[in-house]
Amino acid sequence: MKRIAVALATLLTLTAPPAFATVRIVTSLQDFASIADALGGKRVETFALAKGYQDPHFVEAKPSFILKLSRADLLIVAGLELELGYLPPLIDQSRNEKIRPGGPGYLDASAGCDILEQPTGVVTRAMGDVHPFGNPHYWLDPENGRVIARSIAARLTKLDPAGSAEYAANLAAFETKLTEGQKRWEAALGPYAGTEVVTYHNSWPNFLRRFKLVAAGYVEPKPGVPPSPGHTIELIDMMRAKKIPVILMEPYFDRKTSTQIAEKTGAALLVFIPSVGGVPDAKDYVGLFDYDVKLLVDALASKKGGPR
Ligand SMILES: [Zn+2]
Repeated sequence: MKRIAVALATLLTLTAPPAFATVRIVTSLQDFASIADALGGKRVETFALAKGYQDPHFVEAKPSFILKLSRADLLIVAGLELELGYLPPLIDQSRNEKIRPGGPGYLDASAGCDILEQPTGVVTRAMGDVHPFGNPHYWLDPENGRVIARSIAARLTKLDPAGSAEYAANLAAFETKLTEGQKRWEAALGPYAGTEVVTYHNSWPNFLRRFKLVAAGYVEPKPGVPPSPGHTIELIDMMRAKKIPVILMEPYFDRKTSTQIAEKTGAALLVFIPSVGGVPDAKDYVGLFDYDVKLLVDALASKKGGPR
């Protein structure tokens, strides 16, 4: 009997979860890393190439990225060519066949998501347009975050079947937290439904649509093209005529033009955070929305003297 107990104890030790992470994940965005951490817990180890305060279109490739990619079991990307400017050569140099497009360790998070501004005709790539296949900032709709979480959980289960129960439980917990958050954010922004805003880059169509707000214009004449004097004058005229209350600006752009526009129109300039880690308070995917929604609600409330 004692011998059986010892054998059983040995067997349990052998089948217990390993002390180190089973699945090594590299993501292009901190948002995907945050969701993967929530789903995988100690079974996964994540590393994000772009930090939340960096422009996700233009990430500076570092040699350390190649090492991370060479050891990765899973690479999660936004797709829609968001990473076109830096990632393909890094994948080549990593010599990791698993994480190539189409490989078992490559996950395009846009699959199944609601992608806005998809081109209907031939993609011409009009000069400077960095959104040729639709808007790649789709993770800024919590419902797309839910789709992304389900995709990641499904892939983790495939790569690490022993963790399937854990992934399923963590996915359920994540979705509950997200649903609660959505109720909170919709309630906070509900009184401002229909409000028109201006954003610097076209990063927010999914966010604005989810919360019933409208983009009246952009500081960039086209996604990826810096502001021009002519465009800025037209924008100021439009903002004055429509009494636009706020400009939402991503943290990685020069503030000069936006500050001038804000001064000339009386709009509030808000540094809006497009990704987890953009500010320390936006420490996970739900926290990102908590941060942005509060910033916007506070600004709109002070502009309008409270909800209408
Ligand atoms: Zn963009």
